[in-house]
Amino acid sequence: MRKPTRRTETGRGERVLPGVWRLRLPLPWAAVPHCNAWALARGDGIALVDCGMALPGSLRDLERALEQVGFALEDVRLLVCTHAHVDHCGQAAAVQERSGCELWIHPRHEHLTAALDDREAALARRIEIARESGVPEAPLQEWAEGRRGQGTGMSGPLAIARDLLPGVVVESDLGDWHVYETPGHAPSHVVLHQPERRLLLSGDHVLGRISLYFDHGWTPDPVGEFLGSLDVVDALDVRLTLSGHGRPFTDLHGHVEGSRALVRERLDGVRAALHERGEATAFELLPPVYGDKLAPETAAWLLTKMLCYVEHLERAGSVRRLDGEPMRWSPA
Ligand SMILES: [Zn+2]
Ligand SMILES: [Zn+2]
Repeated sequence: MRKPTRRTETGRGERVLPGVWRLRLPLPWAAVPHCNAWALARGDGIALVDCGMALPGSLRDLERALEQVGFALEDVRLLVCTHAHVDHCGQAAAVQERSGCELWIHPRHEHLTAALDDREAALARRIEIARESGVPEAPLQEWAEGRRGQGTGMSGPLAIARDLLPGVVVESDLGDWHVYETPGHAPSHVVLHQPERRLLLSGDHVLGRISLYFDHGWTPDPVGEFLGSLDVVDALDVRLTLSGHGRPFTDLHGHVEGSRALVRERLDGVRAALHERGEATAFELLPPVYGDKLAPETAAWLLTKMLCYVEHLERAGSVRRLDGEPMRWSPA
């Protein structure tokens, strides 16, 4: 997993549009140094979309970002999370404690909450999958030790008042935001669309700097689901996208196309590597497919994605899984 780095930054708030503020919050990950929460004007307070990860000092970061745009935690009237990853919902309990607001999130959050309910079991399962995927024992044990030493990134359990599903409307002074399910990055992922202002809160589904991630093991085909979810947002009328990381961007269609192209590139890479080698484990496919992106701190993250890619290709009938352990794939 991504290695923790020392926090040198604090939260920052800035107005993006009248009634919409970006709250940029530091993260302890070298590859992903910030996340965004979004404040939407709502009556005498704000609706908050996402809230950052719980870390020592992180609530103060959120407070500082809010203060910079004229609000306090007590002004949060509703907290909505785009998906159940800790950098998006980690501080939910702390925000609720201060503001008394409700939390709305998609009901398929077990990819986070089941792991929190039994961390040792969740870690054991990941170790088992990594072993089956051909990861050698020494780096695997080192990774597991590092994981054991990390916090959960959560300020408390999720206390959910309402399932964030299509048909649910998030009210703001700019108008209503409509929910679209966009699984793939995570089974619980949704985006919020404001049709009159043509705005999209895209979470991690479509990012300004294209990068992909899929939760593995909770749904049959995260890569296929992600591609379907790209079609969902591509059909929306959007002039400005407010994403979970990075700056707002205008060319949603271009970013959707870029995301599709990157998926294709990775799938082509997996197929080419399997053709060249005849057969390989998911772990053995990492160097040919990811090249110098592969590093000790990214390996677990890339392996998760690789499993999603090979399983997608297996479903499509272009690769097949061979008998025996560790899991090996060959061209079909
Ligand atoms: Zn995420
Ligand atoms: Zn994120």
